[in-house]
Amino acid sequence: MTTTTTTNPFDITGRAILITGASQGLGASFARTLAAHGARLVLAARQVEKLAALEAEITAAGGEAASVALDVTAGSAAIDAAVEEATQKLGGRLDVLVNNAGVAVSKPVLQLTEDDWDRTVDTNLKGAFLVAQAAAKRMAAGTGGSIVNIASVLGLSVIGNLVPYCASKAGMIHMTKAMGLELAKSGVRVNAIAPGYIETDINADFFETEGGKRLLRKVAQRRLGAASELDGALLLLASDASSFMTGAVLAVDGGFTLG
Ligand code: NAD
Repeated sequence: MTTTTTTNPFDITGRAILITGASQGLGASFARTLAAHGARLVLAARQVEKLAALEAEITAAGGEAASVALDVTAGSAAIDAAVEEATQKLGGRLDVLVNNAGVAVSKPVLQLTEDDWDRTVDTNLKGAFLVAQAAAKRMAAGTGGSIVNIASVLGLSVIGNLVPYCASKAGMIHMTKAMGLELAKSGVRVNAIAPGYIETDINADFFETEGGKRLLRKVAQRRLGAASELDGALLLLASDASSFMTGAVLAVDGGFTLG
């Protein structure tokens, strides 16, 4: 009889993970999932008090979580300091970054202001880059790591009234590939998840409206996704199961991008 040792390639027990924009929505869902699978977390948000309830919930369930204040538009020095604080709270190592913080301004193109553009691109692209760069420095100096950028299907195809958002997420997707190319030699993998329409507290009401229902008819599976339906891609990219993947963009969208 042959004996086989089964190691789980998706095992993330003890992994040191930083999640940005963790106070609500998908970020909070990612935190619950990663903690439930044994990762050690630092949750980041602009207002650290907003993280207290989630931190307590994770700890009460037997998980490990701490928090840091991080505004991804605060500039490179502040971001670097927050990522350093997170790394220290994780015992001096950072294995995975879930680069999730993001904003969207919905307006017709001719009504957009310079401020709308700056706020969106400064958060979704510049902020995401600076956090990824700060994390990559720590990962490259250690044993490598995995950066998981939360992009969007609207970085792959477009809909109306979201020009800065679509542009910023397309930029994030190209940034994922360009950073993946350069950082491979340092043992840092950079991949992205491009979620389609996922139900969160923020958008649930909208998808009950006529406009929302019209959008859902463009999804091949004809429904919204649940946040938990991103967990497969998340656990893949956060774990060694994706050890030969870098620069990849995984659309998790019920077939929206099929046209
Ligand atoms: P959300 O608005 O509930 O969450 C966004 C999070 O980012 C919040 O915690 C917010 O506080 C944080 N954030 C915003 N600006 C920040 C800043 N300057 N510094 C730090 N944190 C900041 O939205 P969500 O739906 O949970 O979105 C999470 C990510 O997923 C975003 O990047 C979004 O673009 C992406 N996404 C969401 C969907 C969806 O259908 N929900 C689809 C595709 C992509």
